[in-house]
Amino acid sequence: MAKNKPKICGHRYTVIAYDEDSLIGTTSFDTMTIKINSRAPREIQEETLIHEILHCIFFHSSERDWHEHPEALIQAIANGLWQAGIRPEHFNIELP
Ligand SMILES: [Zn+2]
Repeated sequence: MAKNKPKICGHRYTVIAYDEDSLIGTTSFDTMTIKINSRAPREIQEETLIHEILHCIFFHSSERDWHEHPEALIQAIANGLWQAGIRPEHFNIELP
């Protein structure tokens, strides 16, 4: 499995690099694409990819309230996972 075409919660995503605007990361659930800004420092890109993976996990959950993607909660979990040493590779996903 290509690590930039991961399955998250059973759904195939594409992870790509971009440098178009000031967003560090974004996920489109229409195109199943995660974009990570290649201008950001590598650690920020990695933490942001974990953040976007969490968005996907929340999106595919059956909990309707979670579909609103509480940004502060997602960032707190992403930061906590990062602090504990979790990296995108632990999800079998690599930076593009
Ligand atoms: Zn977010």
